[in-house]
Amino acid sequence: MGILDDDVAQVREATDIVGLIGERLALKKAGRRYVGLCPFHTEKSPSFSVNPELGLYFCFGCQESGDAITFVRKLDGLDFPEAVERLAHRAGITLRYDSKAVGQDRQKKTRLIEAVGAAIDFYHAILMEQPAGGRARGYLRSRG
Ligand code: ZN
Repeated sequence: MGILDDDVAQVREATDIVGLIGERLALKKAGRRYVGLCPFHTEKSPSFSVNPELGLYFCFGCQESGDAITFVRKLDGLDFPEAVERLAHRAGITLRYDSKAVGQDRQKKTRLIEAVGAAIDFYHAILMEQPAGGRARGYLRSRG
């Protein structure tokens, strides 16, 4: 039994990642992002950053990154469907399931592709905007 791709996408869209993460730690607005103390490692100055436009979080300290679903999974130790169900409940969405094992395999692949795509977007944004990306930008410039 797998949750339909469309429903997973709907849950992702319906979840306000800043609101969700803001329930678990204090977030402060910093430009177009929100920053706070990372819940995945111990730190005294905030290196945990949330990007509401992309719906992703990233920690410069421990490199944890992901979307709302990943956040719930990692912080609460849930598996993928449990995390989606939790967020669906929160957003008032009723999930639909397909019963085909083949579909599940395909879903896994789609999810992986989506996750990689989202991570690339996020790293790209960091590369272009963040001081931390400066060295990489210099390198890319030197290579034309
Ligand atoms: Zn961290």
